[in-house]
Amino acid sequence: MSATFQSFDDLASPAQGTRHIPLLRAELLRRGLDGFVVPRADEHQSEYVPASADRLTWLTGFTGSAGTAVILRDAAAIVVDGRYTLQAAQQVDTSLLTVVPQAETSAESWIEAHLGTGVLGYDPWLHTAKSVDALRRAVTRAGGRLEPVGTNPLDAVWADRPAPPTGAVSLHPDALAGEAAAAKLARLGDTLRTERLDGLVVSDPHNLAWLFNIRGADIAHTPIALGYGIVPRGGRPILLLDPAKLSAEIGQALSQVADLRPPSGLAEALGAVAAGGKRIRIDQATGAEALTRLVEEAGGFADAGADPLTLMKARKNAAEISGAREAHRRDGAAVARFLHWLDRAAATRPPREIEAVEALEAFRRDTGALRDISFPTISGSGPNGAVVHYRVTRQSDRALRPGELFLVDSGAQYQDGTTDITRTVAIGEPSAEMRDRFTRVLKGHVAIARAVFPRGTSGAQIDGFARRPLWEAGLDFDHGTGHGIGSYLSVHEGPQRISKLGGTALEAGMILSNEPGYYKTGAYGIRIENLILVESRDVPGGERPMLGFETLTLAPIDRRLIDTRLLDAEERSWLDGYHAAVWQALSGLLEPETRDWLAAATAPLG
Ligand code: ZN
Ligand code: ZN
Repeated sequence: MSATFQSFDDLASPAQGTRHIPLLRAELLRRGLDGFVVPRADEHQSEYVPASADRLTWLTGFTGSAGTAVILRDAAAIVVDGRYTLQAAQQVDTSLLTVVPQAETSAESWIEAHLGTGVLGYDPWLHTAKSVDALRRAVTRAGGRLEPVGTNPLDAVWADRPAPPTGAVSLHPDALAGEAAAAKLARLGDTLRTERLDGLVVSDPHNLAWLFNIRGADIAHTPIALGYGIVPRGGRPILLLDPAKLSAEIGQALSQVADLRPPSGLAEALGAVAAGGKRIRIDQATGAEALTRLVEEAGGFADAGADPLTLMKARKNAAEISGAREAHRRDGAAVARFLHWLDRAAATRPPREIEAVEALEAFRRDTGALRDISFPTISGSGPNGAVVHYRVTRQSDRALRPGELFLVDSGAQYQDGTTDITRTVAIGEPSAEMRDRFTRVLKGHVAIARAVFPRGTSGAQIDGFARRPLWEAGLDFDHGTGHGIGSYLSVHEGPQRISKLGGTALEAGMILSNEPGYYKTGAYGIRIENLILVESRDVPGGERPMLGFETLTLAPIDRRLIDTRLLDAEERSWLDGYHAAVWQALSGLLEPETRDWLAAATAPLG
């Protein structure tokens, strides 16, 4: 088996905390600090951080994607959300670190209760201005003092810290981007004028990639280049990237639209743009507090708000949409081959979770177009399927067993589009309860897919559509119904989402996921996920401009798990129509055996 994009090693070790926390404490003592905050963040508040920025794991052993450690002289805590309380308790040295569930005690409350009158240090590159405000309030209430550090004390004692990544930057072809960087910069200039801003700091590497039509290789699964942009209104943009990432050719191409500088030039470049009372937008979600300080030290005004590029990027243009359709046809064929393989294997010798991940990735590699997976595949059989953020390791790997459900959530990065799909598959004969729950999740999925709503409607307003069939049975699920998705960028992209917190209006051209689920702890998990495109809808006789969704993902939904008595005529007709579209799109791409399997898998409900 060739190496996969996904690794199955569990790098967690409580011994890491045992070794490293005393090193950090000694360094804090040398610097006269009584404590230090270590968030699971890099300079861009990235969801996935490079190894060089994975300070929380190095310090504590905890490998989850969110969490904050607070190290004081005689006490230390790691604050994690509900997804990670069990995992953290297994991964950290609990004699040194108290695992604190965030729902009960925030990092700020813990600090307030334990700091006393001491000096708490923080790295201003790893916190947003807003999160520093919250920290400062807590520290003040405790009677202590919050102090930014010039250099990170943890980095000072991290002896074998990996070097920051220098993945090669490539150009994202205009044909796939659908708009040249110069045209995007001109549109951004208009927005800066409208919002009365003198400039923008692009701190989100996804926005940087979109704006300059570049892609990078600094982080696993997301093709971004870590760096910054500074866009003065009316002036020439500055692109700050490590020169080691740029070939002469790429450097030359980018110099057409921007001045290229190394990241070490950030303070000087930003100071020059901000000087003289200029109003500079700092993205409140990804901009480090250090950026705010640089603007203010130069005599400028730091305007905390949303980076306008986030919304511009979310509205996909015609080229990006046609790329997404092409990516979904290619990916759908790979997923169909995988599901066919899975059905055959399940009938003879059910595979293990890791084997399933390897097989799926192999089918995607066979397309010849796979650049990466878009996130580590969630391959959960039986009770593992009920762990929403499950990632299989060599230790947790288990065989798929007859009578169980198998949940597989995966995605691919192709140059023309990013995919994200979940299918839940019956291994052997499912129980009546499993079929009932699956059908309710399906009904919720169909309700979103068929939704028609007036322009201006937010994701929060339709989130309940996906839950109603579960609510009617006294059930629910504890995650959002859908998230935005990038064009050969992040699998999680804002600002739009379908969730209780989704306040952004949905607009034509946005791509989201539609992924309701149901989880029975210790037993099984169910999720059905397709990506959907927001588009205009003509409603005959209607008065308002309306929107609806086109489903982009193309792969059969397991008919063996459907209790057809629970579906109404419109839901049946949606499913039959969807399956007809899957057959239409994929059958010509498949070899005869898989085509026969697909014909049965996409046949109309009886
Ligand atoms: Zn997914
Ligand atoms: Zn998703």
